[in-house]
Amino acid sequence: MAVITSDITVHMRTDRSITQLMLENPSNTEPQKVICEDTLTGKDVKYGKLRSDAFEAAHSLRHRHGISPGDVVTIIARSNVDYILATHAIWAAGGVVSTINHSSATKELVHALKVVKPKLIIADVVVLKKLHEALGELNLGTMPSTLTMIDRKPGYSLFPDDLLGHSNRIESEAYVLDGKDARNVCAAIVLSSGTTGLQKAVMLSHHNLVAISEQLRAHNPDNWRGSMREVFFPPLSHIYGLYVCALLGPWLGYYVCLLTSFDLETFCRLLHEKRATLARLVPPVALGLAESPVTEKYTYPDLEYFSCSAAPLKPLVATKLRNKFPGVSLCQTYGCTELSSCVSQSGVRDKGAPLVATGTLLANIKIRFVDDNCKYVSPGDPGEICVSSPTIMMGYKDDEKSTTDAMLEPGWYRTGDIGYLDSNGYLIIIDRIKDVIKYKGFQVSPTELEEIIGQHGNVADAAVTSVWDDNEATEIPQAFVVPKVKVFSSDRKILSEEIQRMVASKVAGYKKLRGGVFFVDQLPRNPTGKLLRRELRNLARVKANI
Ligand code: AMP
Repeated sequence: MAVITSDITVHMRTDRSITQLMLENPSNTEPQKVICEDTLTGKDVKYGKLRSDAFEAAHSLRHRHGISPGDVVTIIARSNVDYILATHAIWAAGGVVSTINHSSATKELVHALKVVKPKLIIADVVVLKKLHEALGELNLGTMPSTLTMIDRKPGYSLFPDDLLGHSNRIESEAYVLDGKDARNVCAAIVLSSGTTGLQKAVMLSHHNLVAISEQLRAHNPDNWRGSMREVFFPPLSHIYGLYVCALLGPWLGYYVCLLTSFDLETFCRLLHEKRATLARLVPPVALGLAESPVTEKYTYPDLEYFSCSAAPLKPLVATKLRNKFPGVSLCQTYGCTELSSCVSQSGVRDKGAPLVATGTLLANIKIRFVDDNCKYVSPGDPGEICVSSPTIMMGYKDDEKSTTDAMLEPGWYRTGDIGYLDSNGYLIIIDRIKDVIKYKGFQVSPTELEEIIGQHGNVADAAVTSVWDDNEATEIPQAFVVPKVKVFSSDRKILSEEIQRMVASKVAGYKKLRGGVFFVDQLPRNPTGKLLRRELRNLARVKANI
């Protein structure tokens, strides 16, 4: 039994666009219900208004900004209500929603825009300066035009204000697939390093995102309600945020409060004030909730469950959280961008799941486990998790090689994670063999940091790996450097800080070398020069124990 198939199967239609899915309203949400608000602008949006504004803004995107089906529109902004409206307007216009993290440094924007190639950019005013520098460095042929978000800047149109009021609600013009197969029509581009290298543009089809919605509905039918309420802090640029806040929330018509910048006290206060029924977590936040006395300032009478994902949750943290919040279920979710967010999930009432489990497989998913030579391992033994699902990305944009490398064979995505299914069908993740580091759920590419470190005048060779930080419940990036000129112990601290500063000045804050810089005589490489990352990680573990 090398291939294991989910217990649940649902019929998957392949003829629906996201906008068509959105028109369903499966929870019978009232048009007057507020379904989203944010802590940045204080704005809120009602269910009916989000729909009508999306159609109106879509009309303007088409007729005033020349957006045609298939054109890419990139959003670079802090979480706010208009971000959600922008995604629906782009989809209703037939465009492709692309997201880039607003904290990206100029160089990161250059790379991201180069791989995404937008026709239009909707940018938070706080990123305009970096965006200009980035666009100046790029040679894109036709320069994308830019709308601002959050605030107006002279010379720019403001999203959405300048796009509304020119037409009535034009639902009949909304994008439909018109006989095209939803599997072949791109809806979103989200950045991910995949198993190795720099960020790539993951193309997700309309079918991918409709399919994940159907899979989650089938997995948790009890929990498929418009009465859910949540406070959400991960960025909307990540697949987690994009899926939950732009798709799931507006589809079901449940309430989401977008927390634009995270601090534990505000999070707890809002969980209380907004009467949240669910809180999505990443492991460092789970640790904060489990250990901080701040949680005791408030009560959470409506809170039914925590859902933790994006990185490994250690059993000790899970136990502490369960003990502190005995009435709240703790679920885990496992997935990745290339699989449209989610592969397995423990259900809300899934009391039997072992602490370390990431739940059972979603509907219509097949899974198999392989060794280093891509040979099946015996059932129950750990191996690299390979997934077959209607949610597998269309591919990396303009990068056929990386797309092919990401597949075990056509239709089977290699996750780069090591795990096994226990005898009850629970998926347990035990390790990651791909290069990516996850700092608090954010992806950090070692290759990107290695390239930057290599630019330092006294660096002959460099490699980046991760170490686990128990205090923050996350992996942190750590560098190993072979200096060109021998560094005496008295100078090591200075050089190490210089390298850390240099990296910090060129990348988003979450990519900093928080694990420090260590000097070595040589790096573990094979005879052809390939870095042996497993040995490097062992080296880091040894250092950590010193
Ligand atoms: P991303 O594409 O940014 O969502 O990153 C996906 C990767 O995060 C996965 O391939 C795993 O390495 C890791 N990950 C996500 N969820 C979990 C989880 N519940 N437990 C362990 N690792 C996880």
